[in-house]
Formats: sequence, structure tokens, C-alpha cells
Amino acid sequence: MITLTDIGEFGFIQRFSENFKKNLPDGFEGIGDDCAIMPYNNDEVFLITTDMLVEHQHFLPDKIKPVELGYKSLAVNLSDIAAMGGTPVSAFLSLGIRPNTSLDWLDDFFRGLKHLADESGTLLLGGDTAKVTSSSVVNIAVVGKCSKKNIKRRSEASSGDVIVVTGFLGDSGGGLKVIQDDLPVTLDTEHLTKRHHLPRPHIEEGMFLSSFPEVTAMLDISDGISSDIRHIMNSSGVGAKLEIDKLPLSTQLKNAGADHRWDLTGMALNSGEDYCLLATIKRDKYYALNTAFNEKFNRPLHAVGEITESGHLEYLIHGEKMRSTGSGFDHFQRSRK
Ligand code: ADP
Ligand code: MG
Repeated sequence: MITLTDIGEFGFIQRFSENFKKNLPDGFEGIGDDCAIMPYNNDEVFLITTDMLVEHQHFLPDKIKPVELGYKSLAVNLSDIAAMGGTPVSAFLSLGIRPNTSLDWLDDFFRGLKHLADESGTLLLGGDTAKVTSSSVVNIAVVGKCSKKNIKRRSEASSGDVIVVTGFLGDSGGGLKVIQDDLPVTLDTEHLTKRHHLPRPHIEEGMFLSSFPEVTAMLDISDGISSDIRHIMNSSGVGAKLEIDKLPLSTQLKNAGADHRWDLTGMALNSGEDYCLLATIKRDKYYALNTAFNEKFNRPLHAVGEITESGHLEYLIHGEKMRSTGSGFDHFQRSRK
């Protein structure tokens, strides 16, 4: 019997989605990008996204504090709004929760959620609550807005574009390793677990990048760059080269990696949940955009590769082709593809 395990999360989405993508009314765009698009007015569209966190699958209840879980549940959704170049407007929260959950836990959860909602200007406007007897589930849907001319999709990259990322890669994966292996707390490991539990959605960065027509495609890195770049490749019908030696690694990840003998390249490529943005930029605009980004955010827009015509994903190290294993995280497949 063929099961979901055999086709993976992305195979599954592809399998059912074709029927629902056909014949959408003008201005509507559905399955296949970080957010769906719905017409709003002459100049703007609504962006809609939803993401679910399941206990034991996406979070370990004895490792993440409820205040962090509240924050993270919203953050992962805001990241998808950022990925299209939008700003969040409102959120809807559905909770599947055990009846013996303490009120302190719930109060802390909502404190974390409120903190990020206030910080990002997102209004919690509704949701649903259900009793569960096993794993709890947190699902949030977010509605955002974007000016029509600034929307960034996964489908508009073309050969020669520079691939950039807006932050360090692998920190969240390092944090997960610290948690799973119960590693000693140091300033470095603490930083990494914080990056895993409290990812900052790159909303400002997304808005900034989306204001340039020379930024051709964008998405947020949720499953690891080696997996997420394939969404741009598939949607845009292009290939990509990633330069392993250019992947930006934080000092904290390098320090903890040296202490614990981690494969930092593997972590930067394949571990998920960094929630920074990946964008493709017309090559002749990269220099100016990097300068402007640096002035605004006080850090570089890291160039990590190039879009190609080939249709394949290639890895280079110091300019030489290499083979690589692993390609990000897929919730249903047994092991890394
Ligand atoms: P992201 O990682 O950016 O949240 P996903 O990889 O989860 O995106 O989803 C890819 C696309 O598939 C999105 O457009 C999403 O809305 C859609 N999708 C995922 N699961 C479902 C589902 N069960 N029903 C309908 N659409 C889905
Ligand atoms: Mg996304």
C-alpha cells in the first residue's frame, strides 16, 4: 500500500491541489505560495496563511515554555506574511487543548502571543477551542495586507538572479540539537535555543525587499534552505547553485558547533525553522540593495548562490561543484530525502 510516507508532504500537497488551483476568480491565488492572495481594493490585496504546531511533533511540552509557544505559534505565521512582502492585520487562533491544562500555562501562552501580536500590530479577532485527550494542537491563521505591486511570489525568479538570505542559517537547528541532547547551558547554547523557541519573523526585512521590483522571488526558510530553494525552483521553472562556504553562520553556532562537533554545513542547509527570508535579486541590483539593507538593518544581505537554467540544485564549495546529502525537513518522509 502506498502511503503518505512514500510521497512526502510536498507530494501530498501536489496530489490534491491541482483541482483546487484551476478556475479561480480574477485576483485570487491559492495553494502553492507562502500565503494565498485575495483581492481587497484597487491597490492592495489580502494575504492569508495558516500554520499548525502539534505537541511532540513541533514542540516538546517539557522543553518549551508556554510563553515561548504562544510567541512562536504566531511568529511562524507572521513569517509567511513577511515572505510575500506583506504586513499582518489580524489572527485567528484554534486550540486543541487537554482539560487538565493549568490556567497558569494558558495565561503564559497568551502572554507570549499578545507580546508578539502587539509588537507586530496583529489583532487577535477570533478562533476556536476544542478538548483533546492526547497531543495538544495550536493552529493560527493570519490575514495580512500588501500593495499589489509589491507582492513577492515564489514563481518569478530567473536565471542569473542572486540568491540572498536575510539572516543566519542553522541557529534554530542548533537550538533543537541543544534541547534534544540536553547540552550544558552556555551563552552560546542559550542563544541557539532562544532562536529555536522565539524566532523573529522578518516582517520589516520583507517589506523592505518587496519595495524593489528587482527582487524577483521570496519565501521564508521554514524547512531548511536546501528544501525551501526547491519551492522557488519548481514554481519558477529554474535551477539553483548554493555556495556552501557563503552560508552565513552565527558566532554562537560556530562556537557550540566546535564544542560539540556538529556538522555546521549540514545544519545550515538542512535544519528548519530559522524563519529568515530567502530572496532572489537581479544581479546588477545586488550591490546597491545590499548597501541599502546594511544601512537600514545594520547587517548584510548574504549572497549565498545563483539561480540557473538547469532545473537542478547544485552545491559549490569555493567555486567547485560538490555532492551533498539531505534536503531539508519533510514531515511525512521517514528520513531526509
Ligand atoms: P509554508 O511552509 O510556507 O507554510 P507549506 O509548505 O506548509 O507552506 O504549504 C505549501 C502550500 O500548500 C501553501 O500554499 C499552503 O497553503 C498549502 N497547503 C498545505 N497544506 C494544505 C492543506 N492541508 N490544504 C490546503 N492547502 C494546503
Ligand atoms: Mg513559508
